[in-house]
Order: sequence, then C-alpha cells, then structure tokens
Amino acid sequence: MDKNTLLQVWPIPAFDDNYIWCIHDGRSALVVDPGDATPVLTYLNDQKLTLTGILITHHHADHTGGVLNLLQNLGTHIPVYGPAGDNIPGRTIVAKQDDKIEIATPRVSLVVYEVPGHTLSHIAYFANMQANVVEPMLFCGDTLFASGCGRLFEGTPTQMTESLAKFASLPKNTLVYCTHEYTLSNIRFALAVEPNNLNLLSWAEKAQALRALNLPTLPTTIGQELQVNPFMRCDQAEVIAMAKEVSGQLNLPTPAHVLAVIRAWKDRF
Ligand code: ZN
Ligand code: FE
Repeated sequence: MDKNTLLQVWPIPAFDDNYIWCIHDGRSALVVDPGDATPVLTYLNDQKLTLTGILITHHHADHTGGVLNLLQNLGTHIPVYGPAGDNIPGRTIVAKQDDKIEIATPRVSLVVYEVPGHTLSHIAYFANMQANVVEPMLFCGDTLFASGCGRLFEGTPTQMTESLAKFASLPKNTLVYCTHEYTLSNIRFALAVEPNNLNLLSWAEKAQALRALNLPTLPTTIGQELQVNPFMRCDQAEVIAMAKEVSGQLNLPTPAHVLAVIRAWKDRF
C-alpha cells in the first residue's frame, strides 16, 4: 500500500465509555491511550494492522493500563510516547511542548502541546494538514471533551483556561478526538449554563440521535466547541452572567474565574 494513503482514525471502545483512537494507513497503526490491551489486540488482528507506536496523553490508568500488555504481545521495540513527570508504564520517549514527532509508518507528523489542568503533565498531540491528512487532527486525552472539559484533578482553573486557549487557537476544522463518550451528560450541563444557545440546542438533538444508534458523537471540531462548549466560552456574556448568578459573586474578572465557577458547578451537577 502507498505510503501516502490517507490516514484513517477509528475508535476502539474500551471499558464503559473510553475510546482508544487508532490512526492507521491500512497497514501500520498507532494507538492513543490504550487503557486496555484486549480490544486493541482484537482490532489490530481483525484489521490486519501492525502496531508501530503508542501515544499517551496522561498517566491515568484508563489511558495507560494496556501499554505493557501490548508491548509483551507485539514487541518491546514499539515506541511509547508520553509526558515527562509522571510514571507512564513502558514510556520510551518523553514528549514536551512543541516537540515534533515524525512517524514513518503510518506516515504522520505530530506536534506536542502541554495542556495542564486535568493532570499537571497532560499533553496533546496535533497533526496539521499534510500529504495524507486532509483535516487537522487533535488527540486531546481528558483535557477537552465534546461540550465539556476534564475534571481538575491536579491543575488549576487558570491552567485549564490556558490549555483550552491553546486548542482554541488551532484551525476551526481541526477534528478533536476526545477519549471519553461523555457528550450527552456534558450537553445537559452546558444547557444549564447556556439555555438559549441555539447551536447547543441543535447539537443536543444531533448527539441524542447518534447515541440512540449507539454511534460515537466524536470526533468534534474546534469550531463546534467554540460555539457549544461552556468551558471554551468563559469570555461570553451569557456564560459570565450564569457563573455570577450561580456563585453569587458580583465580579468574575477573568475567564479563569468563570471557568473555576462552572467547573465546580459541573462537579456537583
Ligand atoms: Zn484522565
Ligand atoms: Fe480518562
């Protein structure tokens, strides 16, 4: 098969609601955040794909739990990319902000973004348009979800705000491959924040239809999230007003203050 065959990205469902994304050219494959090896091994076998690399976004077990098993089954020569500063099982290559990862098979060039918030050393992988990539792609782990964002287990609201701002600066047509199917519950919360957001209301209908057919609501896009995701809209009047009402605070001077309020609200929603 031609080296420049268009890349395909497929979700491998794992656990209750995780997606392990598989990037492949019909022959060679990368997987992102394999929390469980079994569904990955089955998928690779069914599709006759050779695993050539593993990309890890953060240290949580539902994203890393399958790495050692994959290496045991498929070969310890397979490179494992992951963030510094945390124990990532099997990691062979530390990936830092602005690192360029050039993978030969499948042919793809990725740029690393450091996006602290959900965890402190969380990273994301971005592939801009290239020979075999028609639309930019972002693998964002548990930082950004469709209509939501990750819980702040380790980082601060300011860090999460800055991390989401990095994503907001990416091309609007960037396909966003989030690692959990949390969309419907995120939409319920987003509608509480912005009950009058028409884009959100129509997205809610579309997402419900997809889930009724048991189809993924992902990938989303950066452009879509800027329209419907309250955590990426903390500079919008309606979101600020709702955050003030919910918190009883009269002054929320920055988007990070607004994000702190709505993130805490979501945690108990
Ligand atoms: Zn996580
Ligand atoms: Fe997770």
